Amino acid sequence: MSEGSRIPGFYKLGLAERRAVVSSRAGVDLAELEHALEAGGLDTATADKVVENVLGIYGLPFGVALNVRVNGIDRLVPMVVEEPSVIAAASNAARMIRQSGGFRAEVVESLMIGQVQITDVEHPAAAVARLEAATPRLLELATKAVPNLIARGGGPRAIDVRDLGQRCIVLHVLVDCRDAMGANLVNTIAEALGPITAEIAGGKLGLRILSNLCDRRRVHATCRVHARELVSSPRSSKAAERGSNSESPDELDGLEVVDAIVSASRFAELDPYRAATHNKGIMNGIDAVVLATGNDFRAVEAGAHAYAARSGHYAPLAVWRRDGEDLVGQLELPLSLGIVGGTLRVHPTARLALKILGVSSADELAMVAASVGLASNLSALRALATEGIQRGHMSLHARSVASAAGALGDEVELVAARIATDGLITVEAAERALSQLRGPR
Ligand code: NAD
Repeated sequence: MSEGSRIPGFYKLGLAERRAVVSSRAGVDLAELEHALEAGGLDTATADKVVENVLGIYGLPFGVALNVRVNGIDRLVPMVVEEPSVIAAASNAARMIRQSGGFRAEVVESLMIGQVQITDVEHPAAAVARLEAATPRLLELATKAVPNLIARGGGPRAIDVRDLGQRCIVLHVLVDCRDAMGANLVNTIAEALGPITAEIAGGKLGLRILSNLCDRRRVHATCRVHARELVSSPRSSKAAERGSNSESPDELDGLEVVDAIVSASRFAELDPYRAATHNKGIMNGIDAVVLATGNDFRAVEAGAHAYAARSGHYAPLAVWRRDGEDLVGQLELPLSLGIVGGTLRVHPTARLALKILGVSSADELAMVAASVGLASNLSALRALATEGIQRGHMSLHARSVASAAGALGDEVELVAARIATDGLITVEAAERALSQLRGPR
């Protein structure tokens, strides 16, 4: 992304203009972009080869988040999501965050875990010791199972064995899957290791499959926002853009918002009921990027929530603290994403999403996805801490309500504006607004 992800007024453009802007900014051929986005990119004949019992295609909106800058690089971030306000919220928070330089992110280790379960082990402690001693032999066997991955510089890296009790032990093989999500690669390795593992352990071979709690493939994202970026009223926002000084009432408003967001973070840290919703807000952003790029959102969700509960107390994946006049957010979660393999082989829209993003490794994709998750979290917390979530959410939701009521073309915005202004965002209210707009026939 050479030209940046800041495109003021993007949302006001028509669909064709938006496509043209993204094509030029991302350096993606417009015809290719249009082809990949028409009808979701996947035809029924291809879909019929992807899963079973196919009847057709199910569409979802494909949009882009703006303003995202990760480790100094601007990214237009494709997002696929059915919920109104998710893309706007992420873009809005990313705009605030880029004022302080954008997101910093890193991937920790990047190793997937394959599990081999052995049951009915006579002497578990001795079996663990024997398997640990056999590590070089096990790694050699694992290496032979994935020659293509080895050729790309990946492969098995370590063996870890645990006694689970009840005469059951589990062997973990840690695998660098490079740019693949790695489920099939890891499963291949786990299956190759199964028989010899059972033999060495002196037990019965059980399951051989990856763990979706890929806590050795974690991504860490952080961001910093000055209080003045968080002021809530439009008048204050304009003053903040002009750079109001620290004594101004606007700035004090901003500090109050910082404290309210920190308090919301503490609430999530104390209460799993709140933490679940806090994390859902993070996954709003992450899942939308995961879906757009053809990745396995069930794997990501399973890993995220298992990681959130790792201490035995379900906790928020991101926490927020005050540092002087800044709000600082930190997010960490396991994220197994690929830019090769899986659905990407067959889905032109997923491949287009990767082109728009301009990432060249799975690690880069994970860092962007986590950053968008942090942005989504900030946006939700800011709304909750100030005007409440419903105002912004429902005014964007109003457009889909207007469509559901039968509004067409320009009528959608007019009806949405009417019901949003009246504060009654229901299909019935939209139907009334629509019939008033159309007048007597
Ligand atoms: P995959 O089976 O397509 O394997 C990746 C392929 O890409 C390999 O053949 C590899 O050699 C090749 N490759 C090309 N360039 C590469 C590079 N730079 N780095 C790494 N590999 C490269 O995909 P996968 O990632 O092993 O598995 C992902 C799929 O498995 C997803 O569709 C997922 O839904 C599915 N799956 C998930 C689970 C789970 O999460 N529990 C279980 C089973 C299957």
